[in-house]
Amino acid sequence: MFTHVTRPGAIGSLRVANRLVMGAMHLNMENLDDGGAALAAFYAARARGGAGLIITGGSAVSTVAAGGPGYSHVNDPAHHPALRRTADAVHEEGGKIALQLFHAGRYALTGASGPAPVAPSAVYSRFSRTTPRALTEAEIGETVRDFARGAATARDLGYDAVEVMASEGYLINQFLSPVTNLRDDGWGGDAARRRRFPLEVLRAVREAAGDGFPVLFRISGADLVPGSSTQEETEALAVALAQGGAAALDIGVGWHESRVPTVQSAVPPGTWAPYAEAVKKALCAAGYADVPVIASNRVAGLDQAESLLRGGGIDHVSMARPLLADPDLPAKWTAGRSALVNVCLACNEACIDRSFGTERVSCLVNPRAGHEREFPEQPGAHPPRSFAVIGGGPAGLEAARALAALGHRVDLFEEDEELGGQFRLARQVPGKEDFAATVRYFTAELARLGVRVHLGRRLGLGDAGLLSRFAGAVLATGVQPRLPDIPGWPLLHTVTYPEAFARPESLGERVVLLGGGGIAMDLAHLLTGERTPATPQAFLAAYGLGEGPATQTPTARHRLTLVRRGPRIGAGTGPSTRWVVLSALRAHGVEMVTGVGYREITREGVVVQGADGAERLLPADSVVFATGQEPERATVPALRAAGVPFEAVGGARDAARVNAVRATAEGLAAAHRL
Ligand code: SF4
Repeated sequence: MFTHVTRPGAIGSLRVANRLVMGAMHLNMENLDDGGAALAAFYAARARGGAGLIITGGSAVSTVAAGGPGYSHVNDPAHHPALRRTADAVHEEGGKIALQLFHAGRYALTGASGPAPVAPSAVYSRFSRTTPRALTEAEIGETVRDFARGAATARDLGYDAVEVMASEGYLINQFLSPVTNLRDDGWGGDAARRRRFPLEVLRAVREAAGDGFPVLFRISGADLVPGSSTQEETEALAVALAQGGAAALDIGVGWHESRVPTVQSAVPPGTWAPYAEAVKKALCAAGYADVPVIASNRVAGLDQAESLLRGGGIDHVSMARPLLADPDLPAKWTAGRSALVNVCLACNEACIDRSFGTERVSCLVNPRAGHEREFPEQPGAHPPRSFAVIGGGPAGLEAARALAALGHRVDLFEEDEELGGQFRLARQVPGKEDFAATVRYFTAELARLGVRVHLGRRLGLGDAGLLSRFAGAVLATGVQPRLPDIPGWPLLHTVTYPEAFARPESLGERVVLLGGGGIAMDLAHLLTGERTPATPQAFLAAYGLGEGPATQTPTARHRLTLVRRGPRIGAGTGPSTRWVVLSALRAHGVEMVTGVGYREITREGVVVQGADGAERLLPADSVVFATGQEPERATVPALRAAGVPFEAVGGARDAARVNAVRATAEGLAAAHRL
């Protein structure tokens, strides 16, 4: 069925077993003080799962090249043991691995204590909030040599290839763009001189790495930044790189400063493939049809990869996050077990958002990602015992899965008639439809692992006898909404957020949502009536990038006001997603009120008080409370009466700081501790 994905391919002299490339992603594991053990285990799992080629997260070619403190440094011998161990581990699993050579330029997030960022010109970056120092001619030459040394070192450390990072707005992309390259010397001024730096890097890297060592280039199919490189310039670059001997072109899209979402769930899968196809077309027209093109960004699953490859417009497909979510994705699809694939939600919460900080990258739906060594899953390693998991939300589902994967007997008790907990609310929200796929995955996986699932079963004190038969339990009963202490609230139609999610049609025309956190933001998004995913054409047209009809903004049934005591609506939502959702809410005319106290609910609406003491009425027909939550721990007396050891996880442990990433991670950790 996947005849195109599974077809062997070649990138220069490198033979790859299939057309699926794991794309580069910085993991914040590259600089751990563990000799590369965690990094090697992470990539080995993806090689074992069937990725044809793995491209590592960027490895800085010099100190100033690093994107942040957690980067590896290919030209620093102190990093070589970890880099070598990673390549060896992938090879032991039969995989192939390329090291990405990286220079952040003005995107370096090295902080006040790190080296000052450098770039072709001193142009302020909104992403790193710094103005870099312009490189001197001598420093440009030194940087070219840094890339070359990096390539030779990667080859010596056992890598099968290198990829030069020249997209996403990093240093080489900065040289290419007239927005960030304001030079008027041999390295800037017109398109040909802006192209000189990448071509010099390619020449030097090829020379240093030697004949036959494949050099991939990741270039930007479109910068999505006003005034940046044109389509013609992009195609001319692609042809020049092919002419210069690049073994493959990997096509990224967008800069970190771009105001067009590229990797968020609001972006329909497949949106960016035409940009890669345009590069391939240009290569064919110029006589370089033999140079493979890799399509990256927002390829959601192997069925989509298969259809893109079948179309013949590209040669390989790159995915990163789907392989964090499920390292065995290729093997499962090709074995016809796609129902058991743990689907990436494009939420970015544990991966991309963390990669710009210092926390180790992992995955919301697969908290083992990045922690493969801490949580080995070898059935039979421990004597099998019986465990109860109470609660079938994200934390309980992951706890039950992990316990069963360790070979234990597991009974899961859920008081509702369906698994999923808060994911059942989330799946209704525009852009979060894939949360339903997570529930489907866990349902199928628990069945495969033999977990006995008891739906509609609320445990109480009378169940102490039943609970006493288990060796241990995981309390994953989640949260209850907290009601604020506001005078007058019965006067209006007031509901809690779960009630509003369950019956949105019951809300009046004017809705005030008190809380303003992630849940309130999601609920407001649902109430706008927006429906996603749009088609790629409609999405592109909405951002002025295509010619199709833009998605029509539906006529709103509600007038919505989001109210928060604190200064930021949606605080706690990941930075890569928050601005996209806020833009959507603004486009739907949602009013946002922050920094106010809740004074009173009257027949007319909600009275709030600003920092200046002035009171104001927010007119409302319905008021929704999304004002926090309390742990749901009603089963604790039964567990205590049973004398069974238990671990509370997720919202049942700490409702104030719970989120889905923390919930699944705690479910996994509890399963391994019990
Ligand atoms: Fe995908 Fe979210 Fe996991 Fe990242 S954290 S890999 S976006 S599911």
